[in-house]
Amino acid sequence: MSRQIQGQAQSVTERAPSPPQVNAYEMFQAQVDLVGGRLGLPDDLVDLLKRPERVLEVSIPVRMDDGRIRVFQGYRVQHSSARGPCKGGIRYHPQVTVDEVKALAGWMTWKCAVVDIPFGGAKGGIICDPMCLSVGELERLTRRYTAMILPLIGPRHDIPAPDVNTGAREMNWLMDTASALRGEPMQAVVTGKDIALGGARGRREATGRGVAIITQEILERLGRKVQGTTVAVQGFGNVGSVAALLLHQAGARVVGVSDVSGAFYCEQGLDIPELVEYAQHSPHRLLAGYSAPGVQEIPKEELLTLDVDVLIPAALEGQITEQNAGRIRARIVVEGANGPTTPEADVILEERGVTVVPDILANAGGVVVSYFEWVQNLQCFYWDEEETNARLARVMRRAFQEVWDYARHREASLRIAALMLGIERVVQAIRLRGIFP
Ligand code: GLU
Repeated sequence: MSRQIQGQAQSVTERAPSPPQVNAYEMFQAQVDLVGGRLGLPDDLVDLLKRPERVLEVSIPVRMDDGRIRVFQGYRVQHSSARGPCKGGIRYHPQVTVDEVKALAGWMTWKCAVVDIPFGGAKGGIICDPMCLSVGELERLTRRYTAMILPLIGPRHDIPAPDVNTGAREMNWLMDTASALRGEPMQAVVTGKDIALGGARGRREATGRGVAIITQEILERLGRKVQGTTVAVQGFGNVGSVAALLLHQAGARVVGVSDVSGAFYCEQGLDIPELVEYAQHSPHRLLAGYSAPGVQEIPKEELLTLDVDVLIPAALEGQITEQNAGRIRARIVVEGANGPTTPEADVILEERGVTVVPDILANAGGVVVSYFEWVQNLQCFYWDEEETNARLARVMRRAFQEVWDYARHREASLRIAALMLGIERVVQAIRLRGIFP
C-alpha cells in the first residue's frame, strides 16, 4: 500500500462517460441557498458565501512534440481564505469548465471546515485530455500553467494538490517550477509530491483510506458489521481502488467495480488485490480486458444500481441523478468523488431512506493528509506512515462524530448537517474577521 507509483499520474479512470448533465456551480449555489436558509443567515452573507474570492483564467501555450504551439485553457479559483490559506487540487480533464472549478473550490472550503483544518478552499483545472498528451507535453503544460498561476499560489496563500488525472509527478513539476522561478526551495507550495521531494508518507492513499474509515464508521453507527457487507465502487483511480482494497482487507465483499473502460461483477466478491495489480500494469491504468473465473463484465451504468449494501461513487460529479436515483439499491452511499449526487437525486435517496455520507466528509482524507504534508514541509520534520495514518483516522472519526451528532440534533440529513457545520465555521471566521476596510 505504501508503495509510491513513481512518475505516473493518477489513472484516467475518472473520465466522464458523457458530457456532464449538471452544472456543478448551480448545484453548489443551490446548496448554499438551502443551508443558508436553515442556518438563518442573512441574504448578503449567503451571496458572499456563494461567490469565489478570485478567479484566474489562463491561456497556456505549449510547444507540442510536432513543433506546433497549442493553447490550453486553465483556471485557478480561490473560493475562500477566511479560515486560512486556500487549498485544493488541480484536475486535467476535457470537460473542465470554469463553473466546475468554482464549485469544486467552494466544496473545498466547506470540506476543510468540516474536518476543521486551517485552510480555505481553492481548485484548479486545465481543459485537456491527458491520455492524448505525451509525457513531455504534460510536463511543459504543467510547468507553464504553474508559471501562470504563480501570482496566486504560495505556502501562505494557496497550496495546490492532485485531483482527477494528476498525481505526484505533476506536483513534483509544479514544486520544481515554483522553486526555480522564486529562486528558493518551496516544498510547501504544493502537496501530494513524491516522498523523496517532501511528500507525506500515506498521502497517495489518504483519500481512499478516509473513505474506508468513514464507511466503517457509518456501518458501525447503523449497527452493521463490515464483515460480509457487500460493496460496489464506481471509479478505480486513486480513490476508488484504495477504498476497495482497504474495505476488502477489512472483510467487506466488494462485488462490483468500474472505471471508464468497463464494469466487473462477481457475486462471491472480486479479488481486489488482483484487480489493483491488473490496473497498475495496464495501459492508462484501466480495468479493460480484465477477466477471472466467476467474474462477469456488466454495462457500466449497472454498477450504480447493483444490489449491494454500500455504494461508493468515486469518479466524477453528477453520476447519481434523478434518472437513476430511484433504482439505487444500496442502503448506504459513501461519496468518494466530489459532487457525485445531484440535489434532485439527493431528495429521492432521502425519501427512499438511503443514508448518504456526503463528499465533504467522506473524501476529506486527501486534504487532511495534505495538511499534514504542508505542516511537515514547513517544519522540515517528517513523520512515518503509521503516525500519519493514525492522525488521519483520528481526524476523520472526530469529524464523522461531529456531523453525526449535528444531524441528530437538527434532524437533518448527513449532507445538510455537514454543510451546516462547515458553513457555520466559515461564517464564524468571516464575522470575527469583519469586512475590510
Ligand atoms: N483534490 C482533493 C480533494 O478534492 C485533495 C485536495 C488537497 O489535498 O488539497 O479533496
